[in-house]
Amino acid sequence: MPILVIEDEADVVRYLCKGLRESGYTATWAADGTEGLHLAATGNWDLIIMDRMLPDGVDGLSIIRNLRKTGNRTPVLILSALATLDERVRGLREGGDDYLTKPFAFAELLARIEVLLRRSGTREDAAELCVADLRLDLRTRRVERAGQDISLQPREFRLLEFLVRHQGQVVTRTMLLESVWDYHFDPQTNVIDVQISRLRNKIDRDFSPALLHTVRGVGYRIGFDG
Ligand code: CA
Repeated sequence: MPILVIEDEADVVRYLCKGLRESGYTATWAADGTEGLHLAATGNWDLIIMDRMLPDGVDGLSIIRNLRKTGNRTPVLILSALATLDERVRGLREGGDDYLTKPFAFAELLARIEVLLRRSGTREDAAELCVADLRLDLRTRRVERAGQDISLQPREFRLLEFLVRHQGQVVTRTMLLESVWDYHFDPQTNVIDVQISRLRNKIDRDFSPALLHTVRGVGYRIGFDG
């Protein structure tokens, strides 16, 4: 389940993203309001965790207002150090679905995420992801293509899951590093190329058509059409 984290404090981001991934979510990170609004508006998220005070002078509430104005109803959990009653009420009134104040306990955050996902109905129907004849069972972590089992390492599974969740879109190397490897810098290695090539061998070599495409100079895309 893809979660977008809009938050500028690196320590909080690391803690959040690590914990979310360990709990089986896919976490993507935006560090300021501009990137946050862009990703929130263009991505297909099950949930957004939103800090309020962002470095480019954006209050997370303005991002929520923008989203709601365009009919985007993605659940938003506000995570903020602004803890007064007035601020919490304001956050909820302006379109937030829940409000948790910092510092927070991760167990409580997880429980609140579960409530929001349950309410929006995303939990149940996200048990399986498909692209063409490739199927990922998110509960058992099993993958098959054309009815044949494909055995993936955990990292390969996460990589494939991320690509399939963004099927039809170009996924950049930065997105992969942040979401699948948890790197917030470019390690300047060929770690991605190696994993992509392994994954491609497993899901495409013995099948047709090829689903995993390289978009030269940009990243990768999974989908039907070549
Ligand atoms: Ca902040």
